[in-house]
Amino acid sequence: MSKRPIYLDCHATTPMDKRVLEAMMPYFVEHFGNPSSTHLYGWEAEAGVKQARVTLAQAIGANPEEIIFTSGGTEANNLAIKGVAEAYFSKGRHIITVQTEHRAVLDPCQYLESLGFEVTYLPVQGDGLIDLDHLENALRSDTILVSVMVANNEIGVIQPIAEIGKICHNHQVLFHTDAAQALGKIPLNVHQQHIDLMSMTAHKIYGPKGIGALYIRRRNPRVHLASQIQGGGQEKGLRSGTLFTPQIVGFAKAVEIALLEMESQTKQIEMLRDRLWKQLSHLEGIHLNGHKTQRLAGNLNISVEGVDGNALLLGMQPTVAVSSGSACSSTSTAPSHVLTALGHRDSLAYASLRFGIGKFNTPEEIDQVATATITTIESLRSRLHQPIK
Ligand SMILES: *Cc1c(COP(=O)(O)O)cnc(C)c1O
Repeated sequence: MSKRPIYLDCHATTPMDKRVLEAMMPYFVEHFGNPSSTHLYGWEAEAGVKQARVTLAQAIGANPEEIIFTSGGTEANNLAIKGVAEAYFSKGRHIITVQTEHRAVLDPCQYLESLGFEVTYLPVQGDGLIDLDHLENALRSDTILVSVMVANNEIGVIQPIAEIGKICHNHQVLFHTDAAQALGKIPLNVHQQHIDLMSMTAHKIYGPKGIGALYIRRRNPRVHLASQIQGGGQEKGLRSGTLFTPQIVGFAKAVEIALLEMESQTKQIEMLRDRLWKQLSHLEGIHLNGHKTQRLAGNLNISVEGVDGNALLLGMQPTVAVSSGSACSSTSTAPSHVLTALGHRDSLAYASLRFGIGKFNTPEEIDQVATATITTIESLRSRLHQPIK
């Protein structure tokens, strides 16, 4: 009975790959120097950071000097959005984003609205994809930034990033994308996809928490940003603070592994996801949320009719660690803003489950999860229909 629940919440975070930990280890005690220091200890640490920057840049088709390390995806989004707003406000004060973005994009946008910026929140279609004509029509002469995520953290839907980037570049508007869920899982290339700024994080791809990066284009066009953290002037003055060498090295190792194993992992994880859906789809009143094919391999987001969302989650907790809606808002009782944006009625949006399958999951685990889910749903439904004694 002391067995821990099966972990199926990989959109929230992932366990670290042991190879990542191994790569990080020497940088805690041995190569502990401050990368800014001009002596051997500093140079050792700096060499680790330099190599990591090259690895990360190569992974997305960028140059090393276009990578700024941050504490994660949230900070990268804040730096990109607020940094552009502050640097370009004399050019315009209009920003376009999407209703289904992560809170780390929506909240900085809302904050900017309180400062006098105007933000257009594009709706999505029933499948979670934005309408490119909507985007084109929303662009104005005072639009300075478009922010559309690559892959959604709740429904896994992958937006047509290259097309969006092309529209932005044709209108000479900067394009930022939150790639926290996409890095290492689908191919990314900042040139082919016309990306000017891209947020990344390590802990969604078996890397350490507390480390991420922002890609900032330096040519065609050169993107200007106002720094959001001032101090020692690290990271070209864009993000002051002593660099966290072990995390940075671990981030690069996680990216390196993810790229090498992308094809095989995607196939394996997709197989597990389809195995889960095949079993669950036999139940009545179950709906798959988001586009059927244009989504992340490990994502399965379902809405369940006729059960209470919290009761469902609670019933499954002993067997499976899974999330309802987004992990960041799971403490609130409000329906997920993403599912609501898909056009679900509130009640249907409420009883939803987000399975996030990762590379360490096995077919046996998936079968156990399927059984537990079906049993819990059936028991909740039968209780609902029993007369109260
Ligand atoms: C996890 C996540 C973030 C936040 O990244 P952190 O590194 O946890 O700050 C931002 N956007 C998306 C889409 C995410 O999935």
